[in-house]
Amino acid sequence: MNEVSKQRLLLATRNAGKTREVREILGAGWEVEDLTARPDLAEVAETGETFEENAKLKALAASPHYDGWVLADDSGLEVDALGGAPGVRSARFAGEDADMAANRALLREKLGEVRGRERRGRFRCLLALARKGEVVRTFSGAVEGFIAPAERGAGGFGYDSLFVPEGSRRTFAEYTPREKHACSHRGRALAALVAYLTADEPAA
Ligand code: IMP
Repeated sequence: MNEVSKQRLLLATRNAGKTREVREILGAGWEVEDLTARPDLAEVAETGETFEENAKLKALAASPHYDGWVLADDSGLEVDALGGAPGVRSARFAGEDADMAANRALLREKLGEVRGRERRGRFRCLLALARKGEVVRTFSGAVEGFIAPAERGAGGFGYDSLFVPEGSRRTFAEYTPREKHACSHRGRALAALVAYLTADEPAA
């Protein structure tokens, strides 16, 4: 595929893990920029109560500054025994400035006495696609699994070292990228996005 025929999009994130995964999943036919090269665009306050609201906020904030498709990913981990937490607060679970090691430590601590299948949870990904300052479509994906009692694996990012997909014995951090993307929340949401964008006439 040559440069001319590549499709372009701006991923409205500064999360390097998300950008890497979106690039891996979309593959060589896509040129994916993110906000690391756009210090002029302010951080968006994620004030929504749902993944969808936050994804739309992020897509709408970036779209007026980019000529083409803008994609925003809002995602996170829901744990049933914690009433769906950390959910939309996944990146800030242990506090506004907490790093992911602190977030994972807090998750393990909160699930301390919870055993076996009671540790059920899921990753969700909500993608908002915008163009010309308007959200055109949203796409979602989820993957069910369990929260491991201890971290395992060196791959992935975020909570991957604590998440064991249903039917597996390994955490996402022990998966290859290809294995993770084949079943992950983000892989599923992006498959729906690609089906939409490669259909005969996308809406915008
Ligand atoms: P936000 O979408 O910017 O609110 O952040 C989502 C947070 O959820 C990330 O910072 C990660 O902590 C977590 N998360 C989302 N997707 C994944 C994933 O694929 N693996 C591990 N953690 C994830």
